[in-house]
Amino acid sequence: MRELGVISNESGLGDTFNEIDEFSDKCKYKDCTHTVEAGCAVLKAVSRGEISEERYNNYIKIYKESLYNELSYVEKRQRDKKWGKFFHSTMKDVKKIKGR
Ligand SMILES: [Zn+2]
Repeated sequence: MRELGVISNESGLGDTFNEIDEFSDKCKYKDCTHTVEAGCAVLKAVSRGEISEERYNNYIKIYKESLYNELSYVEKRQRDKKWGKFFHSTMKDVKKIKGR
């Protein structure tokens, strides 16, 4: 039992929630969030008791966290892109001025 904590700390989402991952393969939608989707195999398994509610709640918690991190990563990238554009156009103007 002592090693259980180590395992869940070290392994990723897929390793820790093997049984949920198995069900998620059967979901109707590939990008299923396993929260509200009608054709969600994970939700069905939870309602049937094949996945314990506690495990499911943990999974959703980690899933949402990883989703949030990904979102902020995308937002960051978009901001970088905007900055890149701004920098690029500014450099163009500088060149124009210098060319005169
Ligand atoms: Zn699902």
